[in-house]
Amino acid sequence: KRRIGMMTSGGDSPGMNGAIRAVVRTAIDAGCEVYCIYEGYEGLVKGKDFIRKFEWPFVRGWLSEGGTLIGTARCMEFYERPGRLLGAKNMVLNGIDALIICGGDGSLTGADKFRAEWPGLLEELVQTGELTAEQTKPFKHLNIVGLVGSIDNDMSGTDATIGCYSALGRICEMVDYIEATASSHSRAFVIEVMGRHCGWLALMAGVATGADFVFIPEKPRAENWKEEMCGLIAEHRKFGKRKTIVIVAEGAHDQDGGKITCEMIKDLLADKKGLALDTRITTLGHVQRGGTACAYDRMIATLQGVEAVKAVLDATPDTPTPFIAINENKITRKPLVQAVIDTKEVAKAIEARDFKKAMGLRDTEFID
Ligand code: ADP
Repeated sequence: KRRIGMMTSGGDSPGMNGAIRAVVRTAIDAGCEVYCIYEGYEGLVKGKDFIRKFEWPFVRGWLSEGGTLIGTARCMEFYERPGRLLGAKNMVLNGIDALIICGGDGSLTGADKFRAEWPGLLEELVQTGELTAEQTKPFKHLNIVGLVGSIDNDMSGTDATIGCYSALGRICEMVDYIEATASSHSRAFVIEVMGRHCGWLALMAGVATGADFVFIPEKPRAENWKEEMCGLIAEHRKFGKRKTIVIVAEGAHDQDGGKITCEMIKDLLADKKGLALDTRITTLGHVQRGGTACAYDRMIATLQGVEAVKAVLDATPDTPTPFIAINENKITRKPLVQAVIDTKEVAKAIEARDFKKAMGLRDTEFID
């Protein structure tokens, strides 16, 4: 029987449990055995109790559980070859020759590296006497399939990552709560949302809540952003608006790369010589990650989990490592390496202050 390993890695996101459930049940339905690897690469490197066989009932009810029930971690050892050697050894000892990984671009980069090194890793394990040639013989190729779990929606090549709509929904809910009190006191709120290199959450939350002003990393505001923001807010207030909402992505900065902080914005809005608004800061933090997955994330987690198992079963040694995407409402398989390269390009473009390129790569021109 084929043995498929399933793990979650990197930052957790709502919907990961739905993906695990779908993978476990689809694999069993296809006549495979499925092993969950606890704590991401940490569990792969440590082996033993971290790798457990899953049966159909184990994942009952997991669609409505937030986070990941098999744990996730950042694992320093896996960045280095000796860590990956241990991982390969544990795979062979458990008879696992295919891995489905739900994580961000870092986790998926690590996975592809692992696959590329696989024959060399096995050779070294035999040479050093860790495993026998007999033991490694059935494990010539390693199949990897990626599922993208991230609240940031920061992966190129897919319209949505598992978790992003849950986080967006949570942000909108929180902004609604804040708006009620902001309106009552006629206050301004500066709200920081997650997204280091990706402003999707901030941008879409701005659209969905009708925020007064939004700051994202991909497209810093013009040099005169202070006047622009204060002018616009003054106008909104003149129309009779009693609340002011400014949404700031955590990676927001100006055109010179200087960080734009919530404190800076607050000071501006509160300036007695200017708008003189009673201004508060709310950093939403981890409430954005927590809680149960919304219907959309449960749906893509399930459909993509099913597709991931199919991709494992279809794989040949020559198939480039795929990840499962959603494009224009269709579940698709795409080459992982290209998507990871494109994703890193955005971060590089932002660092090089080539914002036109960054926005082009994000495919969000419509927002202009
Ligand atoms: P995310 O998957 O959410 O982007 P990280 O970038 O922290 O999160 O990656 C999660 C884990 O994946 C890391 O702790 C490490 O174990 C592994 N990993 C990430 N990048 C690499 C890499 N280039 N080579 C090997 N392993 C990696």
